[in-house]
Amino acid sequence: MPRAWHLASRPDGMPTNANFELKEPGDAPLGDNQLRVVNRWLSVDPYMRGRMNDVKSYVPPFQVGEPMTGGAIGEVVESRLAGFEAGDLILHMAGWREGGVIGAESMPHKLPKSMLDTGISPQTFLHNLGLTGATAWFGLLKVAEAKEGETVFVSAAGGAVGSAVVQIAKAKGMTVIGSAGGADKCAWVEEIGADACVDYKAGNLLKQLSAAAPKGIDVYFDNVGGEHLDAAFAVANPGARFAECGMISGYNSTEPMEFKYIMNIIGKGLMLRGFIVTQFMGRMAEFHEDMGKLVQAGKIKGEETVHEGLESQVDAFRGLFTGGNTGKMLVKV
Ligand code: NDP
Repeated sequence: MPRAWHLASRPDGMPTNANFELKEPGDAPLGDNQLRVVNRWLSVDPYMRGRMNDVKSYVPPFQVGEPMTGGAIGEVVESRLAGFEAGDLILHMAGWREGGVIGAESMPHKLPKSMLDTGISPQTFLHNLGLTGATAWFGLLKVAEAKEGETVFVSAAGGAVGSAVVQIAKAKGMTVIGSAGGADKCAWVEEIGADACVDYKAGNLLKQLSAAAPKGIDVYFDNVGGEHLDAAFAVANPGARFAECGMISGYNSTEPMEFKYIMNIIGKGLMLRGFIVTQFMGRMAEFHEDMGKLVQAGKIKGEETVHEGLESQVDAFRGLFTGGNTGKMLVKV
């Protein structure tokens, strides 16, 4: 019987085990226009933290007592939905569970066989060829409009979105400075192409960033907010563009963020633009065409941190907030 994580209670700060409950909801009969799916890979993403709060946002909150959802790769074992048959590998939104019966509400899409046949792994569609990669690609190239020859600073550069930003920017001829927590993660960020990486856990982020970017930065791809965003205000060149993608330093915090250099927005004419990747859903073909080529050419590699078994998902999820992943955080079911 497939098990599923349910929201047991809403967290206050960092989620604890008490906020989650693993239940066996029972095997539902397969209705018309439905698929029975066995999940293989589950996506673990920071935005899920926001869904644990009871606040109106761009995605509705998880409901207490109800199963949680998220991106997943599954295999169809039985189909009563036109266009799908047993054996199909699909991307869908009924994650946080081992499988079960899903319908159109879970947005099932078949993985392109032509790409799987070239050796691309199915779980790549949860990172570099999925919404993670799209967040990096649209954020860097369409939101910040980063160009060849420019200097890009990207925070959480050892994570899923950040490592994709580093590699896309290098493939497009930019100078890239990453930031990450710890010397080992920084070494890896440089290994995948960054010209420099600042270790924010080593202290004095602004001093380190100023040394790494003596000519300033033209683009900041923000995954972290807080002190990182403030340091970017300080070293930004006139007219620099900021793609405001995420602010993970604030997701479990009850303290307001403080900024010393925020007034540079005015004097330097900085452009800050927040975005949600789903705003670009109508343009996914552009992303797939370019990113597909970069991935197939080996210019963009997909590092994965894999936790085994559904029971590990809560630990994997909490690990996002303590730097427990390099590249994409995944659960293998
Ligand atoms: P990551 O794979 O980057 O995982 C999170 C990483 O953030 C951790 O590994 C950790 O790395 C770093 N981190 C955690 N807490 C802090 C902190 N307090 N200060 C600095 N770094 C921290 O996750 P994703 O790639 O999935 O997401 C990255 C960002 O992009 C998130 O903010 C997320 O919300 C956002 N996002 C936004 C989307 C959009 O549409 N706007 C879509 C997808 C993601 P380290 O070891 O370096 O500390």
